[in-house]
Amino acid sequence: MSESTPLVTILGSYVQDHCWSVDRFPAVGETRVGRFSTGPGGKGFNQAVAAHRQGVATRFVGAIGADPLGDTARRFALAEGLDCVWQVVNEVPTATASILVDDAGRNLIVVDLAANRSLSASDAAGHIVAGTRVVLAQLETSIALVTAALRAARSVGALAMLNPAPLQPDLTPEVLALADLITPNETEFALLLAMLGVPDDVSELWQIDDLDLHALCRTTGVPSVVITLGEHGCFVSHGRDRRGDAAAYYRVKRESVRAVDTTGAGDAFSGALAAALAFADSGRPFSAAVMHANRVAAISTEQVGAACAMPTRAQVLARFA
Ligand code: ADP
Repeated sequence: MSESTPLVTILGSYVQDHCWSVDRFPAVGETRVGRFSTGPGGKGFNQAVAAHRQGVATRFVGAIGADPLGDTARRFALAEGLDCVWQVVNEVPTATASILVDDAGRNLIVVDLAANRSLSASDAAGHIVAGTRVVLAQLETSIALVTAALRAARSVGALAMLNPAPLQPDLTPEVLALADLITPNETEFALLLAMLGVPDDVSELWQIDDLDLHALCRTTGVPSVVITLGEHGCFVSHGRDRRGDAAAYYRVKRESVRAVDTTGAGDAFSGALAAALAFADSGRPFSAAVMHANRVAAISTEQVGAACAMPTRAQVLARFA
């Protein structure tokens, strides 16, 4: 357990992933032979491991059951040296997911969020302390928790960051308005705009003209929006505060890697972005943090698995220096 004040606090889900690598997805009723592996996952935990491995003091707040999978989570975090605050929920199991990954690196996922649904909002937000620079939440926990986390971020003067994934119908414009920065993927951004009543058809975002995409981002009212575009990299849009960037909007191309499993790529991106933004003395533009996140996410696709696939800062620098 780290003794230092966390610069990044991530509140969210822990899920034990059960992953099968198959040549192709089975058809309905078909059985295929695959290679099995299991490891830690969950959007919150993946993001925390990604941030922690960038060398930034990171705290994870999450929930597990009083069961062997919960013990597995604790052991992994301990070995990793990640500062974790676990809420142990009695009579609800630790969350699990079944993931199929095919030869093209695509995935199919079924998840039971189990203990994550019981993560107490007031208790969890109480672990956001003065000195924290970035607070990051996602939507695999209750909306009450997300609201409390973003409010607590504001109250300690931290950047309130939301990865709106997976997008839930109970995310309201009022909760969204508490975020300084959001990191939706293409699907989540389209759903977000639909939730806000924007009439445009926003499929194939990577093909949309930059100025039009910027205008769509601005309809969210969120000061900074980073849309991750999978193999097309990402798009950044700022409101009045450009956070040290010269341009109000721009794209960053994906890094060239041999992707075998994109599970957790978005988590790698959000976690690494939170970490890069938390560097105190950086004085660097926002774009430098985005570029680092883009690299972390790219490398994470080269290995099967979620949390375990997050590269360290040293690995990123060695690869892209
Ligand atoms: P999610 O996993 O949430 O669906 P994306 O698919 O948008 O998120 O991917 C997140 C980020 O991961 C991208 O913005 C990019 O930086 C990186 N990434 C994803 N797929 C690739 C790829 N094939 N090659 C390189 N980088 C990738």
